[in-house]
Amino acid sequence: MADYLISGGTGYVPEDGLTAQQLFAIADGLTYNDFLILPGFIDFTADEVDLTSALTRKITLKTPLISSPMDTVTESDMAIAMALMGGIGIIHHNCTPEFQANEVRKVKKFEQGFITDPVVMSPTHSVGDVFEAKARHGFSGIPVTETGKMDSKLVGIVTSRDIDFLTEKDYATYLSEVMTKRNDLVVAPAGVTLKEANEILQRSKKGSRRSRECREGARQWDVGQSHLLCSNRGVSPIQDSSQGNSVYQIGMIHYIKQKYPELQVIGGNVVTAAQAKNLIDAGVDGLRVGMGCGSICITQEVMACGRPQGTAVYKVAEYARRFGVPVIADGGIQTVGHVVKALSLGASTVMMGSLLAATTEAPGEYFFSDGVRLKKYRGMGSLDAMEKSASSQKRYFSEGDKVKVAQGVSGSIQDKGSIQKFVPYLIAGIQHGCQDIGARSLSILRSMMYSGELKFEKRTMSAQIEGGIHGLHS
Ligand code: IMP
Repeated sequence: MADYLISGGTGYVPEDGLTAQQLFAIADGLTYNDFLILPGFIDFTADEVDLTSALTRKITLKTPLISSPMDTVTESDMAIAMALMGGIGIIHHNCTPEFQANEVRKVKKFEQGFITDPVVMSPTHSVGDVFEAKARHGFSGIPVTETGKMDSKLVGIVTSRDIDFLTEKDYATYLSEVMTKRNDLVVAPAGVTLKEANEILQRSKKGSRRSRECREGARQWDVGQSHLLCSNRGVSPIQDSSQGNSVYQIGMIHYIKQKYPELQVIGGNVVTAAQAKNLIDAGVDGLRVGMGCGSICITQEVMACGRPQGTAVYKVAEYARRFGVPVIADGGIQTVGHVVKALSLGASTVMMGSLLAATTEAPGEYFFSDGVRLKKYRGMGSLDAMEKSASSQKRYFSEGDKVKVAQGVSGSIQDKGSIQKFVPYLIAGIQHGCQDIGARSLSILRSMMYSGELKFEKRTMSAQIEGGIHGLHS
C-alpha cells in the first residue's frame, strides 16, 4: 500500500474523547485504571515541566509528592528525604507525643536554609559526642566554637566527611584533631540572605549542600496530637480520620482556627462534595481525598462506604477549587501513571504509602523471607498497628467501641532501595506524562482539564490488558 504525504492546513478535526465532566457524568465510579488521557501537542522538553503545586491555600511544594502518615512509611528519615526532593513527609502519630515531637524536631533542623539554633560543640568535645548527637538528631554537621556555645568564636566545623571513616576506637579523639579548621571554611557575615549565602557557596564551589532543596522543600507537619504540637512547636496540624465529615473534626478545625489563626489546617478524609463542604465551611486550607482505595485498606469491604479514587478526586477537587482549597489524592497510587492521572483530575498533590514503603528511609528493619529482602507495611487501622498505640484506634474507631473492627491489613513489601533514586524517577515520570499531554506545568494541566481541552477515554477490561505487558515468553 502506498504512503500518503499529507501537507497543508487540513482544517476540521472531529471531536474526539471525553472531557472530564463528560467522563464522570456517564461513568460509574472510576479508578485510575479505568480511564486514559489522550495525548496532546508537545513543544517543550520534559525537564521544563514545572511541578510546583499547592499543598494548602498558603503552602506550596516544589514537587507534588507526600509520604503518608503511617508508622511503616514516615518518620524523620523519610520526611527529611522527601523535603530535600521538594515534597513533604507527614510524621505518623502511632507513638507517644514526645516521640512524634522529637521526629518533627529532627526534620525542622533540616528544613530551613539557615539553621539558627545548631548543635554546637567545642574543640575539646570528642568524636564520641558527635556520634551521640548524630544518633539523637540524625545529622553530624556541627559547628565548633571556642567555648562550645553559639555566641563564641567559630573555630571549625565537623561534617560527615570528617567522621565517616572513624570508628569506636576513635571516640575519645578531640574534635580539634578531626574538624575542618576555620581557615578552610567559607563564611559570610551575619545577616546575609539565603540567596547571597547560596551564591557565596556556589562561587566557592563548596556546593550549597542541601539548603537550596530545603528552601523549596516543605516544612514538617504533624498529625494527630495536633494541639500539643501546634501550640508548643509551631508546626501545622493535619486532621486524620478515614471519614472526616464529623462533628469531632469540625469542632477541632474550629478550635485550631480560632486559637491559631495563622496555621494552615488540612481536613479529611473525604470523597464527596457534601463532605468537603462541611470541612471547607469549618475553615480547612486543604483536603485529603480517599476512602477505601489504599493498598492495605479494607474499609470498603468492612464499612460498605468509600468511593473509587478517580471519581473521588475529580468530584472533590472540582468542588473545592471554587473555594481555592487544594486537594491531596490520598492512597491507591500504584504507578507513576497513577500520579499523573490524579493530578489530571484536579488533585494538587498525591499522598503515597505503599509506593514509598520498604525503602531505606521507611521506618522498620529489613528481614528475609524465602530469600527475599522485605520490610513491613501495614494499615494504620490494622490490628497489628492498633496494638502499638491508642492513636490509630482513634482514627479508625469511636472511643467507646468495645469490639474492634479492623479497616486495614498488615503485610510486607520487597526492598526498594533509597527514595533518593525512586523519587527522582517519579518526578521525571510525571514530567514526561505532562509533556505527552502537552501541559508545561501542573496549573496548566488543571486548567486544560477544567476548560475541556484535556480529553479522556474510558478503558475497557481488554483495553487494560492491551495497555499492560502481554505476549512475552519471559
Ligand atoms: P497506599 O498508598 O495505596 O498504600 O495508601 C495509603 C493510604 O491508605 C494512607 O495515606 C491512608 O489514607 C490510607 N490508610 C492507611 N492505613 C489504612 C488502614 O488501615 N485502612 C484504610 N486506609 C488506610
